[in-house]
Amino acid sequence: MKRFTILALISLLLVACATSPTGRRQLMLVSEETAISASKEAYAQTLKPLSEEGKVDNDPVLTKRVTEITERLVAQAVKMRPATSAWDWSIKVIDDPEVVNAWCMAGGKMAIYTGLIEKVQTTDDEIAQVMGHEIAHALANHQAEKMSVSMATSVGVAAVGVVSDRPGIAMSGAAAAALLAIKLPNNRAAETEADRMGIELAAKAGYDPRAAVTLWEKMGKVGGGNRQPQFLSTHPAPENRKQALGARV
Ligand SMILES: [Zn+2]
Repeated sequence: MKRFTILALISLLLVACATSPTGRRQLMLVSEETAISASKEAYAQTLKPLSEEGKVDNDPVLTKRVTEITERLVAQAVKMRPATSAWDWSIKVIDDPEVVNAWCMAGGKMAIYTGLIEKVQTTDDEIAQVMGHEIAHALANHQAEKMSVSMATSVGVAAVGVVSDRPGIAMSGAAAAALLAIKLPNNRAAETEADRMGIELAAKAGYDPRAAVTLWEKMGKVGGGNRQPQFLSTHPAPENRKQALGARV
């Protein structure tokens, strides 16, 4: 019986494996479709209270600036992976000067927090690097991969209780897992993959690849205080990345 269970588990894992755009094997217990629909719900639920507080896209100049950058990146993302032209891509600027973060959920639902722009004083080239990197995570299906790993290790089930920062927000289990997925760190291989693809996307969209290095330098300085930027808490140490990126650009 025990052997049967182990064999069943192994065959499940084999069936559930996928290959990323750079040829890496991924554990996939959650389909990309599930990740996309769960993300859609998580996105709407995350933005709703912020929107009611007037914190979403409340600076037309900044919204226009960020939208223009992400539109150029999305045009390249669609060329890199044509099926994503069917995605309902969206970017929102969230007014929270204390949050140094940005993300792109499965299906192209993006957000950038004003802290990343104001505290880090990011240039357009640097914003393009952050968003290119985040878009790459979505293109490579990293969110479904993280949802799968959470499920496989059952960490996700226990952790779902902590995903909602705001009490009273009801979310389906899948949406909560999708939200959790953007808050958990990616593995090192997924990060390297997102760096590689992100720099390529940004370069093809006309943004300077050297900004990938200056971005991490500036981000590291912001992280010098006692509050580490959220973005850095889910990403490898700036020093390690800078070296790897420096070798690339
Ligand atoms: Zn990343």
